[in-house]
Formats: sequence, structure tokens, C-alpha cells
Amino acid sequence: MARHIDPKCKLCRREGVKLYLKGYRCETAKCSITKKKSLPGGKLSRRGKKLSSYGIHFREKQKLKRYYGVFERQFRNYYHKAERKQGNTGENLLILLERRLDNVLYHIGYGFSRSHARQVINHGHITVNGRKVDIASFLVKEGDVVRPVNREDSVNMIKINIDSNKNRKPPSWLELGDDGLEGRVLQMPNMDEMSIDIQEQLVVELCST
Ligand code: SF4
Repeated sequence: MARHIDPKCKLCRREGVKLYLKGYRCETAKCSITKKKSLPGGKLSRRGKKLSSYGIHFREKQKLKRYYGVFERQFRNYYHKAERKQGNTGENLLILLERRLDNVLYHIGYGFSRSHARQVINHGHITVNGRKVDIASFLVKEGDVVRPVNREDSVNMIKINIDSNKNRKPPSWLELGDDGLEGRVLQMPNMDEMSIDIQEQLVVELCST
């Protein structure tokens, strides 16, 4: 009998890379990609297909979009914004995506995955600098403070999520305050700490044509 593979894990297998779409499970040996790689001869194949140059570039872009859960139009906007900034466009693009509020909440444990963090935001549980924010694409900046709204159900739910995700440590540009609840943005995201295996230059080459 064919073994059921979660649709999100199927996306990772299609891209041949961990996209971290299922939260805690992605960090464990139960991850479909980790299991497959650890099998004898378990190299992830793409069904023997040789990708064209366009295909390779396109795949990198798809990886990035799926990892952060953004659609094409939104992704294009990030790209144009990254292009207008000084410095390396690829790095600018990754930093912009990392600054999304849903990504920040995932890192500090408010959500089990980025898509779960998006739900938490959409349902109105989050404040940034004391103001309610229900837009997952909100971009945090240095010095921002994230908290659940001052409602018992929101605070309790976030506390439970943080506790369940405590094995996942936030990157050094973020921290949880002394109360174990308040998320703080200490600095802009650090490229060295990004867990996605991506060749951002290929994405830039594709988007710039
Ligand atoms: Fe599934 Fe997460 Fe592993 Fe991807 S990284 S295959 S979503 S468990």
C-alpha cells in the first residue's frame, strides 16, 4: 500500500529541500527529507529529469516563495523593494522576507510553523509596540516589541505555543524578554542564520529579466 505523504512534505520533496512547513516535525528525524537522505543511496532525485537553466532559476524562486508562504505578486513587490535598496539585491530580498511578522512569530515560538503564525496574526492575537497588528506581511524593524494582545485567551494561547516550541531557539537578532512572552527585535536579520538552502543570486537573475 502506498504510504501517505503529507502534502506539505510533498512540496519539500518536489523541491528537494527542507522548507520547514510543518513546524516541530521539520526539526526531527520524522521529517520526510531527513528520512529520505538517511536511507542507503537516499539522494533526493527529481525523477531523473534534467532541469533547464530556466528550470533551475525557477525552482530557487519557488523554494523561496514556499518557504515564506508568499504569492507571486507579493514576491515581486519584495523583489522590487530589494532592488531599490542599496547593496546586494539577493541579500536585501532575504532580509525583507525574514522581517515579516509571521516569520518573526515563528522564530520566537508564537507559532508552530509560518502558516500557523499567520493564523495567529490574522485572528487578532498580536500587538507590535502596543498596537494591534493583523497583517502577516508587516515588516518589523530594530527595536520593535511583539506581544500578545492583552486578553486572557490570547496570552494563554501564546504561552502554550512558546512552551511547546521551546526546543527551537530564536536567531540572535530576536529574543524573548525576561517574562518569556515579549518578543524583541534586537537588530536586522543576520544572513548567516537563515536556515533555507537557497541560491538567491539565481532568484535575482530570474526576476531581473
Ligand atoms: Fe515535511 Fe517539514 Fe520535512 Fe518539509 S521540512 S519534508 S514540511 S517535515
